[in-house]
Amino acid sequence: MDRGYVLVDEYMRTNVSPLSAVGDLVPTLQLAHVGFAEGT
Ligand SMILES: Cc1cc2nc3c(=O)[nH]c(=O)nc-3n(C[C@H](O)[C@H](O)[C@H](O)COP(=O)(O)OP(=O)(O)OC[C@H]3O[C@@H](n4cnc5c(N)ncnc54)[C@H](O)[C@@H]3O)c2cc1C
Repeated sequence: MDRGYVLVDEYMRTNVSPLSAVGDLVPTLQLAHVGFAEGT
């Protein structure tokens, strides 16, 4: 984590396999369509 955000790679994978993270808990724009795209 960094400053409260979960860090992920370019495929939204965390460093804890097989967990991924998307949406407001990762350090990208906090918008619904951004989180949706990250999930896709
Ligand atoms: C006032 C406001 C207006 C916004 N307007 C827009 C807009 O116009 N357009 C846009 O694109 N985005 C908008 N956003 C941003 C958008 O709402 C978020 O980016 C989006 O909802 C993030 O989705 P998420 O799934 O990451 O998190 P969330 O939608 O916050 O979902 C997280 C879920 O986890 C649940 N949860 C939390 N803790 C636990 C726990 N311990 N156990 C189980 N469940 C838990 C919560 O209850 C919640 O349901 C707005 C946000 C706000 C606050």
